Amino acid sequence: MSNKRDYYDVLGVSRNADQEAVKKSYRALALKYHPDRNPGDVEAEEIFKEAAEAYSVLSDPEKKRLYDQYGFQGLNHTGFQGFQGFGDIFSAFGDIFGDIFGGGGGGGRYGAKHGRDLGIEIVIDYIDAYNGCETKVRIPKVEECETCAGTGSRTRTRQTCPKCQGQGQIVQGMSFIRMATTCPQCHGTGEFATDPCPECRGQGRIKKQKEISVHVPAGVNTGARLRLRGEGESGSMGGDPGDLYVEISVRHHELFSREGKHVLLDYKIDMTLAALGGELEVPTVSGEKRTVYVPAGAQNGKLIRIPEMGFPVPGSGQRGEQIISLTVTTPRDLTERQIELLEEFAALEAEKKSESPLKGFTRRLGKKIKQVIQN
Ligand SMILES: [Zn+2]
Ligand SMILES: [Zn+2]
Repeated sequence: MSNKRDYYDVLGVSRNADQEAVKKSYRALALKYHPDRNPGDVEAEEIFKEAAEAYSVLSDPEKKRLYDQYGFQGLNHTGFQGFQGFGDIFSAFGDIFGDIFGGGGGGGRYGAKHGRDLGIEIVIDYIDAYNGCETKVRIPKVEECETCAGTGSRTRTRQTCPKCQGQGQIVQGMSFIRMATTCPQCHGTGEFATDPCPECRGQGRIKKQKEISVHVPAGVNTGARLRLRGEGESGSMGGDPGDLYVEISVRHHELFSREGKHVLLDYKIDMTLAALGGELEVPTVSGEKRTVYVPAGAQNGKLIRIPEMGFPVPGSGQRGEQIISLTVTTPRDLTERQIELLEEFAALEAEKKSESPLKGFTRRLGKKIKQVIQN
């Protein structure tokens, strides 16, 4: 602890410097001593770490207060241990490095590229969306060339790039604000193939078709996106591969439609069943038939629900319902007997309606009074 330099000295700011001055000073140091700019320079690395630690304390009001009051001792109680490596530093200052170095993160050598994400759309059947399914997709993918093992060289040898001396970048400018650009000769790899591979023409990468199995979970709907980690394009220069996004479209079903987690079924019933009520056998999305009960006097658009027959809700263990919407149909092509019966029915219906509604009311009221008296 005692051999540590005072944080204000490290950043070269006065004790009453404001946050802006602290940040500005740190940025200048970080730019100058960044490991990407000083590969293999141990002293620069130490200064860079020291500056990062000083900044992490002086940019935090609480830590700054403790440090001002008690020195390094004050920080012992905060659990602050300093930084172990660059990983810690980069994760602590993602934002500040982000704007200096264009997408912070560090790690990996200069030139390492994360593989591109790929996207593909698949169309599955309604029943497959209900049950879940396994399917295969073929995607165009840039892969490492097998002929040259990704070296881009027929003899699988690579030479250090003379233009950038293997750094992969060319630094221009004299002051501490220097511009680094990707080396045009080796495209940032720091080396190049002496005898280009004929298969990939020295690129080390080649376009292929790849077949990938996709597990589609039960319950998916149109617009759902599955992410397959690492199944995108492979990275280059040691970069991680991208991801594959599979976008789902679900085909229409001839009988069933869908409303969120519910299966919908429009079903026609006879006028007589609607009027009298009774059992009705309906198809379900699981394939088997189910008997439901239609109440007497069911109107057009009456909904009947079968619980637990809808789509599973992924990750919840729950299911929606199958909802049957009834359409009452009017019979056609009547026989003479049917016409007779319906005419009789209509006559009775007319008789009922011509009765004063009050008559029915007083009759019911009379019954009620009788009940009250009896009780
Ligand atoms: Zn180069
Ligand atoms: Zn090759």
